[in-house]
Amino acid sequence: MEDSPWVDKTLNLFKHCLELFSSENVGIVIQSYLYRSEEDVSVLLRAGSRIRICKGAYKEPENIAYPDKSDVDANFDLLVQHLLEGSKENGTPSLSDDGKIPPIPAIASHDEERINFTKRLLGEMGLPKESVEFQMLYGIRRDLQKSLVGEGYPVRVYVPYGSEWYPYFTRRLAERPANLWFFISNLFR
Ligand SMILES: Cc1cc2nc3c(=O)[nH]c(=O)nc-3n(C[C@H](O)[C@H](O)[C@H](O)COP(=O)(O)OP(=O)(O)OC[C@H]3O[C@@H](n4cnc5c(N)ncnc54)[C@H](O)[C@@H]3O)c2cc1C
Repeated sequence: MEDSPWVDKTLNLFKHCLELFSSENVGIVIQSYLYRSEEDVSVLLRAGSRIRICKGAYKEPENIAYPDKSDVDANFDLLVQHLLEGSKENGTPSLSDDGKIPPIPAIASHDEERINFTKRLLGEMGLPKESVEFQMLYGIRRDLQKSLVGEGYPVRVYVPYGSEWYPYFTRRLAERPANLWFFISNLFR
């Protein structure tokens, strides 16, 4: 999911794809910094959609997105709760054995508090570990990725690829300028 001018267009495209393919073959990303996301999640869950929840990476105006990180985090946890409840209502599908068909909720975050909240809620709701998937960027918090796998949770690693790497790369640098130093220091290692 890109920045806010694209949200409705992306959701419409996703709706169209759901009609062509099943919810097992297409999924969507929702950003917890947008005020609208709770409503979007509730509509999407009615169709049994696979949903990746993330905080959101773009600079958005205050009339559409929470300006404070603590609110973005609180909304993230609220949306995770909706996703787990929605998954339960849809029969709690688990990750398929070959890893190709994901569960309904995908928790895309490196924030341990968000991850621990999800783990706690899963336990309280009596849901199996395979009914969620944790997702992180390639190379970020490998320690956390490994420890989650060790505990028995599915973890998927996001690996960008393709010929259009330069615009993608510059967008990622713009969203997190600290990565420029990370990139330069690793280039010379
Ligand atoms: C699988 C996946 C898919 C995503 N898809 C989208 C999308 O479609 N649309 C969208 O807007 N955003 C997307 N994002 C980005 C997301 O919205 C956040 O901007 C990003 O993940 C940082 O938020 P966080 O939840 O990790 O928490 P934060 O609180 O921002 O970070 C927690 C900690 O993780 C580490 N960390 C996080 N990100 C990085 C990084 N890039 N480099 C180095 N260290 C880092 C830092 O140590 C930080 O302190 C995606 C993220 C992931 C993991």
